[in-house]
Amino acid sequence: MTTITLVRGDITRVSADAIVNAANSSLLGGGGVDGAIHRRGGPAILEECRRLRASRYGRGLPTGRAVATTAGNLDARWVIHTVGPVHSAEEDRPELLASCYRESLRVADELGARTVAFPAISTGVYRWPMDDAARIAVDTVRSTPTRVEEVSFVLFDDRAYDAFARRTG
Ligand code: ADP
Repeated sequence: MTTITLVRGDITRVSADAIVNAANSSLLGGGGVDGAIHRRGGPAILEECRRLRASRYGRGLPTGRAVATTAGNLDARWVIHTVGPVHSAEEDRPELLASCYRESLRVADELGARTVAFPAISTGVYRWPMDDAARIAVDTVRSTPTRVEEVSFVLFDDRAYDAFARRTG
């Protein structure tokens, strides 16, 4: 059984085996949670992202996939980068958002991570409606077989926290 906990705050301040980044497919950093993770985590994360781009993801990390790097100066062993779908674009498919959570947990299992912190993927610049994003996030984590013992959703504002709280009851 995986325990789900909700945290209100900044994901770069939490302690976990793995912290998930809502990255973009370039893997080269961006705004929002991505920018915050690279800022606080330091250049080691970007260096490894660059190497991944050069070796495995020349065309970018596809939407719904996940890949791990060092966590640099964050209080974690790994950052798992995943690319959420943009709402109101051709990739506006709930399955792709569910895939971000499933693939991140699969990578976490491969690494041996027991605690994983997720932000509310796709709910910022990518504009996924918060209630729907919370439903997909919570339902997918609940239905994915994993050895991860604790998943925390780290929600940046009240709107996100309340949506996830309604979903986890
Ligand atoms: P996306 O491009 O996947 O929409 P964003 O980073 O724009 O990614 O937003 C995803 C969610 O992360 C939003 O709900 C945003 O409020 C939240 N967020 C932004 N910064 C942080 C942070 N430091 N910690 C946790 N969540 C954050």
